Amino acid sequence: MAGVDELGEFGLIARLTRRFKKNAHVVAGIGDDAAVVRVGDRLMAVTADLFIEDVHFRRGDAPPDAIGGKAAMAAMSDIAAMGGAPRFLVLSIAVAEDEDVEFLDEIYRGIAEAVESYEAVVIGGDTTRSTSGLTIDVMVIGELVGARYLLRRGARPGDWLLHTGRLGVSGAGLNALLHGRAGASLIHRHFHPVARVAEGMWLASQPPVHAMMDISDGLGQDAGHLAGSSGVGVNIETERFLHATNLKHFCEQHALDPNMFVLMGGEDYELLIAVDPEYGDGLINAFFQGFRLELTRVGTFTDAWQGVRVDGAPVTGLGFDHFRE
Ligand code: ADP
Ligand code: MG
Repeated sequence: MAGVDELGEFGLIARLTRRFKKNAHVVAGIGDDAAVVRVGDRLMAVTADLFIEDVHFRRGDAPPDAIGGKAAMAAMSDIAAMGGAPRFLVLSIAVAEDEDVEFLDEIYRGIAEAVESYEAVVIGGDTTRSTSGLTIDVMVIGELVGARYLLRRGARPGDWLLHTGRLGVSGAGLNALLHGRAGASLIHRHFHPVARVAEGMWLASQPPVHAMMDISDGLGQDAGHLAGSSGVGVNIETERFLHATNLKHFCEQHALDPNMFVLMGGEDYELLIAVDPEYGDGLINAFFQGFRLELTRVGTFTDAWQGVRVDGAPVTGLGFDHFRE
């Protein structure tokens, strides 16, 4: 009997979902950050994310409101990744009989704060008993304003690979936490990610941007998803990496390689895009003018090969897979 660990997370999804059909209302189905569906003459983005105790969070590590806030942010980030605005959340929990009510109340306070910062609302959910720890399921419905959206599919050979913000900080925060190392600002970032909603909506309105996703599993793996969905390869150039100051200091102190956090650390929730090279510099400047946030070029798409290369060398197994560690 084959175990799911042989397939890996993405092989398992492909295997289980192969029998599901699309219909005329489904613009983009399984395989992107969120589905794009047509309802009447409007387009919406829909996504769901699960948060399981001892898989996604450990009780006692994170402040409880941060557990809730992060669950909501991560789910809303998948709407941002399509260029959408999160509007409605459906929130379900499985709770042990002896769960601490104040702990749950704090989690929900975190969710409320995250949701309100995007003018989204919680409209329902489900509550059941759990036999092992706490499970939180967040489903989000987003609006694609003006029917504008971007898929992972769309990167062309020669396009630049760009990302928003700074990468690797959340991964370094997790490292600090797990090893009891000092790194308050890294840990804070790990617990308080931000969904790049306004940024995603703007990027989706720019014709030179050909494809977009959010970075939840590390730049290496997610650049591979963007390239793979687009049927092209990508070369990541580490000399272009712009490291956050706190990440640089942390790595110096502990003799760690910051590039590894950028490539393999997860949960940055920054946006990753493919851009027509002719408009690359203009986009980078306009983005910074608008958002006071960096767009950084970290690679180039190519039709010379498939998959991810880092500084020209083929790599596999970068980043996070739930069944392969
Ligand atoms: P992300 O990391 O952006 O949240 P995932 O890697 O979790 O995306 O999911 C990839 C795609 O597979 C998405 O389109 C998602 O909706 C779909 N998917 C994941 N798990 C399942 C499942 N059990 N059944 C159906 N579709 C799934
Ligand atoms: Mg995603």
